[in-house]
Amino acid sequence: MTAPGSGSRASGRMKLWFEQILFPVPTLTLALSKGRIFDETLPLLAGAGIVPAEDPETSRRLIIGTNRPGVSIVIVRASDVPTYVQHGAADVGVAGKDVMLEHGGEGLYQPLDLEIARCRMVAATKRGFDWPGTVQRGARIRIATKYVKTAREHFAAKGMHVDLIKLYGSMELAPLAGLADAIVDLVSSGNTLKANDLVVVEDIAPISARLIVNPASLKLKRDTVQPLLDALAAAVAVRRSAAKVAS
Ligand code: ATP
Ligand code: MG
Repeated sequence: MTAPGSGSRASGRMKLWFEQILFPVPTLTLALSKGRIFDETLPLLAGAGIVPAEDPETSRRLIIGTNRPGVSIVIVRASDVPTYVQHGAADVGVAGKDVMLEHGGEGLYQPLDLEIARCRMVAATKRGFDWPGTVQRGARIRIATKYVKTAREHFAAKGMHVDLIKLYGSMELAPLAGLADAIVDLVSSGNTLKANDLVVVEDIAPISARLIVNPASLKLKRDTVQPLLDALAAAVAVRRSAAKVAS
């Protein structure tokens, strides 16, 4: 004997199955990192009509649904975003320019500067370190950073000899603990540097978050991806003009 109502549930499932065959909902996966990138992307996504169903800060889920059928968000480490998009595990992602410089950007389309998560990539030393003198003498400089590739390319282009030390966090500690002469890191307000008696000695690059897209997704899911890109570009423009009015 079947439970009451199971017949109508079964026919409901059948109807859904037919609808999915006849009118497939296009799927779209977005890769975002928790924290700053997620928080600052949220209003732009809302401008594009996409609202996540959960907050990754409070939910343990790593795949989050949205108000739009077929559109989901995967929550990954900031430096893993380009990897997910490059391999097509996500169609679209948001990654800092710092992450993209380090990744190299191969196999990724970068159509839009989202103008969020703005900061600068700089070199910094302890206050009182003779940076110009050390550079002029051509002495080897020990530089601690998470951005080994970007730092290597930056100093090589200037013909400077540097020894790079890879770190995964708290770069500011390295000069204080005697691990390195300088660090390459991101700064926004400069408060962390100041609190640790460090000063900026070189500006390397302005940083903001970029929209990155898998080129195959753009081709094969153009009807879904292109309107999202257009809507995000419009949301960025609205935000920019609102900021201009406010200033
Ligand atoms: P993790 O904490 O997992 O090691 P992360 O430090 O890269 O990763 P976040 O601190 O959330 O993660 O930084 C994410 C992105 O935000 C960075 O890649 C960078 O583009 C940007 N960002 C980092 N620090 C700042 C800052 N102080 N101000 C503005 N944007 C920043
Ligand atoms: Mg961080």
